[in-house]
Amino acid sequence: MAEINRRTLVQLLKLPEHLYCADCGAEGPKWASYNIGIFICTECAACHRNLGSHISKVKSVFMDNWDLAQVQMMKDMGNDKAKEKYQVHVPLCYKRPCPTDVQVLKEQWIQAKYLRQEFILPEKPIYLKGFMEGYLWKRGKENEKFHLRKFVLNESDDSLRYYVKENKEPKLVMKVSELNAVFCPMKVDHANAMQITFVKDGTTRNIFVYADDGKDIVNWYMAIRSAKLNQMQIAFPESDPNEVAKHLTPEFLKEGWLRKKGPRSGDTYRLRWLTLDNRRLMYLTNPLDPYPKGEIFIGYKENGFSVDKYILDVKQVGFGFILETPERSFIFSSDSEEEQKEWIEVLQKIMNQPLTVQDKNTAAIIVQKRHTFSSQFHALKV
Ligand SMILES: [Zn+2]
Repeated sequence: MAEINRRTLVQLLKLPEHLYCADCGAEGPKWASYNIGIFICTECAACHRNLGSHISKVKSVFMDNWDLAQVQMMKDMGNDKAKEKYQVHVPLCYKRPCPTDVQVLKEQWIQAKYLRQEFILPEKPIYLKGFMEGYLWKRGKENEKFHLRKFVLNESDDSLRYYVKENKEPKLVMKVSELNAVFCPMKVDHANAMQITFVKDGTTRNIFVYADDGKDIVNWYMAIRSAKLNQMQIAFPESDPNEVAKHLTPEFLKEGWLRKKGPRSGDTYRLRWLTLDNRRLMYLTNPLDPYPKGEIFIGYKENGFSVDKYILDVKQVGFGFILETPERSFIFSSDSEEEQKEWIEVLQKIMNQPLTVQDKNTAAIIVQKRHTFSSQFHALKV
């Protein structure tokens, strides 16, 4: 009997709707929640187990024993039908997790779907209200400690503020439409950590926050996405909202340690943390620095941008590559050939894409700053 049940399950797994995890889309799910009636991947199965067996009853397709009634529940529902049931009102701004996304995003998506059943009810969730306030732990600019700070997001004036003291002026006011928010659990060593980047006075500023509760940080993330989506629809009424929603909070294209050569011929290589945020390549001494040491705008290839392998001096270890911009060459060295290849490929890919209107705005802000800097420097030298 057990064998027949297993064979039925294996047949079910071959259906197109079951080739991918019902929650994150990972290939080849091998687990199931038999009361919900879905096939899921190992990671999502762990999230389901955390919901408690009164919400989700998890079993392995291959390692556990199944009875006929349980198999019947899988037959009756399945991933497609469950999607119709649990994902009726998913807001356009909501970031549905993919297999490579961070744990907190998957866990909250699963909780929102099956525990809170947020997408069944047409009621507006908190992050769609255009106003949100609450407390987040924010990393100090001058020291490494995290402090509890009040944050206020207000869509009507396109702002995200934070306060050091409640009744005083905000410490910082950011334009929501111009910021990016990315989860960064590894960098901060906290499961619910988020990095917010924005351009201030011509240079990128990074702030690092986390919430004690995964639900809170995901609500802030979705509130930022919702406000950005609405702002974009006002600024570009002709654009397709579905397309806009895909690019609200783009993941960093690549990050990692590299050695960077100083600008003068005798300069040595220094270890730097590189973050590629869309077309901005920032280099930092420490991944959690509030300001990068420098940043390079990666333009279009036809305007004097290129990247290629570079033969390092015999004394220098590693695998080199050179990034050419109209103003200057940058030489980097990576630890492995694979890293070198990945950096060259990702930079080339960006250079092959012509600039969008927003890219041009970013370029203008950063370049302007560079000119100010060089003219000041020039004045000092004179
Ligand atoms: Zn999954």
